Amino acid sequence: MVHALGLLAILGLLAEEAAPPTLRLPAGARPMRQAVELAVDPNLEVFSGSIEIDLEVREPSRILWLNAAGLRVTSASLGPAGDLGPAEVVPGGDDFVGFSTGSPLAPGPARLRASFEGRVSRRDNEGIFAVEEGDAWYVFTQFEAIAARRAFPCFDEPSYKIPWEVTLRVPHGTVALSNSPVVTTRADGERDAVRFAPTPPLPSYLVAFAVGPFELVDVGPSGRNRTPTRLAVPRGRGADTAWARESTPPILALLEDYFDRPYPYEKLDQVAIPGAGFAMEHPGLVTYGLTSMVQRPGEETIASRRDWAGTCAHELAHQWFGNLVTMAWWDDTWLSESFASWLGDKVTDRFRPGWGVATDRAADRSRALANDSVATARRIRQPIASKDDIVNAFDDVTYEKGQAVLEMLEAWLGEDAFRRGVRAYLDRHAGGHATAADFTAALSAATGREVTSVLGTFLDQTGAPVIAAEVRCDGVPRLLLSQRPYRALGSPAEPKAWKLPVCARVSGREAPVCTVLTGETGEIRLEGGPCPSWFYANSGAAGYFRPVQSAAESRRLLEGSHLTAVERVAVAGDLGALVASGDVAAGDVLGLVPLLARDPDRHVVAATAGILRDLDPLVPDALAPRFRHLVREAFGERALSLGWTARPGDGEDVRLLRRSVVGVTAGLGRDPDLAREAVARAGRWLDDPSTLDPDLVPAALAAAAGAGGRPLFERLKAEALKTDDREQRERLLWGLGGVRDPDLVRDALALLLDDRLDPRESIVVLWALAYERDTRRLAFEFLKANYEALVARLPHDEMSPVPYLPYVGVGLCAADTRREIEGFFAKRAATITGGPRILAQALERVDQCVALRQAQRASVSAHLESRPGS
Ligand SMILES: [Zn+2]
Repeated sequence: MVHALGLLAILGLLAEEAAPPTLRLPAGARPMRQAVELAVDPNLEVFSGSIEIDLEVREPSRILWLNAAGLRVTSASLGPAGDLGPAEVVPGGDDFVGFSTGSPLAPGPARLRASFEGRVSRRDNEGIFAVEEGDAWYVFTQFEAIAARRAFPCFDEPSYKIPWEVTLRVPHGTVALSNSPVVTTRADGERDAVRFAPTPPLPSYLVAFAVGPFELVDVGPSGRNRTPTRLAVPRGRGADTAWARESTPPILALLEDYFDRPYPYEKLDQVAIPGAGFAMEHPGLVTYGLTSMVQRPGEETIASRRDWAGTCAHELAHQWFGNLVTMAWWDDTWLSESFASWLGDKVTDRFRPGWGVATDRAADRSRALANDSVATARRIRQPIASKDDIVNAFDDVTYEKGQAVLEMLEAWLGEDAFRRGVRAYLDRHAGGHATAADFTAALSAATGREVTSVLGTFLDQTGAPVIAAEVRCDGVPRLLLSQRPYRALGSPAEPKAWKLPVCARVSGREAPVCTVLTGETGEIRLEGGPCPSWFYANSGAAGYFRPVQSAAESRRLLEGSHLTAVERVAVAGDLGALVASGDVAAGDVLGLVPLLARDPDRHVVAATAGILRDLDPLVPDALAPRFRHLVREAFGERALSLGWTARPGDGEDVRLLRRSVVGVTAGLGRDPDLAREAVARAGRWLDDPSTLDPDLVPAALAAAAGAGGRPLFERLKAEALKTDDREQRERLLWGLGGVRDPDLVRDALALLLDDRLDPRESIVVLWALAYERDTRRLAFEFLKANYEALVARLPHDEMSPVPYLPYVGVGLCAADTRREIEGFFAKRAATITGGPRILAQALERVDQCVALRQAQRASVSAHLESRPGS
């Protein structure tokens, strides 16, 4: 009886083992070391390779399961290290492959060898992929999150951190790079076998290589260990790397200072990938988009220089946070991404204090709060139940909300104490893994405060609170506080509460006054002071919440010059959000626009333009001329005085202010004088690019395309098709997205299906047209009519724009369009990894817009009707 039951149990076990895992690999075996040898030729669309994995088997199992996707395993052997026998390959569906010798693997050390073949993608930027630049092909890898399995069978989960020994067999004389330095290069027929030093322990998603005729630019030694540092760019572009060369060493040094630890790897190569819109932090081999790293002298923009520095700081921050200490599983993706975003911006601010990074952050925080206002948002620490969840984990919530929450924590705990906690965390977990609990434990220990429950209320639930505050001066003056969940109109109400640090600025006091609000209400006692005449409930705008303020209260604070630039940017963002929640009337906010638009700080001006863009869908067509007039009145004087022409001696802030005010006056305000001049400017720029400030080119081309008719459209189009320069093509395509005439809009949309253009580049035309009131219907109709053809051309990797396509219809802001979007996309999204959640969010955006329009349209209309006509 006992025996029979035991046998049944074993039979059950065998049956279970024959089925591949569904998400995670079984824990019965783990890798200790993996050698990978790959034959890769950038000119070929196939590759072949072999692996050898040293294993530790903990539980006997008949099948050893690994991750593999799109690979054909041609042979395998498995067994104790000295006694490998042939292994049968067990198919495991899309993500797994099994190996079996017929009898269970005994606990203890074992070894797997396998040979396989796979494809080099020329469409997707994941796994092993190739890109053509100039007249040559280059091969790159992008494995995060779950695409290492496309390059070789492996334990493709971040919890397995092992040394990797990579050997690449490449065409003779071709540059081959990987995470660690080259040990030997051996000629082998027409190929070179390039062997790299074993890496420190790394998860599979951080393994990387690049192969092609790169130009290698020596940056020299950088950092405390004088790490050899280089840039790898396509042939002929070495001269365009001045900014990357100049900025990398100081950024690395600032990060080392923050951590008080040297850069943890042996070398640092930064590699440019043509056509990529992302960057990736692989140890020793950080990858960036080509147009981010490389700028031709004279074409550099302020934005491109700043974006590069910010991206570089983010990726290099990962070398400690993510690479040296790695999350144990994808539910803690935020731990490395939020932190890298947070420290990346902090270090960029130190690198160039004049850039106003902290003021930019106020706008970014407001955007994070807006993205977090849908009930379908992810939590920062969202449980991972499927592949969809892994792909969805790399979203705004992980990056932007996570960063904002860390900023709040740092402001609450103090900069020094927070840094002590970070350093203690790294000391404790260097080389290994850690979880959110490890991080908050280190912060709590370093600061003596209970961090876990405060952070937990932000990690484990969506959304953010609104804080109402009022002064009471009967007895000791105090600030009475209360919290409730922020709810945008059109989204469901959900009961939630936060434990949150609140710091207010109060008249007559230098330092902010703070408390941790743990219940629905609380107070800050203002001992020893008079009754304050004003206060602002979010000092430095560091809190991840919205203070509720009426338009009149905001006006008093703004007119009284009580707020810093950071706080004024936050107020502008909050006003927009309070319109969306129905707490403030849209018409009252329109009444504040002239005051905000006059602000001396360019960030406030840009945030004000943002409010108007958000309110644009609420404006009835009949009142659109008055709305445009309002825009021109608010920004036009400054726009016309700054004009399209940069003056010698203009500082970067003036140039960026010009870009904002001229952009919004010409775009949303449709200023006819600016448009006419833009057409002339665009024509001159096509002949001679030096005639226009590079920072103004996108706004000028868009305004010109909207007003320039067919002749200019044809010129821009011909130029976009002709040029072999990616940066130039990018500018021209953005410009072509500025057309308004329906015939031209149709012709512009046709470019998305034009084989002469890379759809990864031409997709910007669709986004630009979906954004504008006059063209979004045509953009949506085009998408529906050509969806399958477009999707076949676009990449299907984890950074693919395909799951986001439902957003093309969101700006239409109508209940019947919602049904249209849902009807068209529901089945299609279900077949795309990560698609269902993104569709649900897009649909909720429509709900919000429809409800907002219903609630606030009368207020907008009344305000516009009270104004002079256009
Ligand atoms: Zn990152």
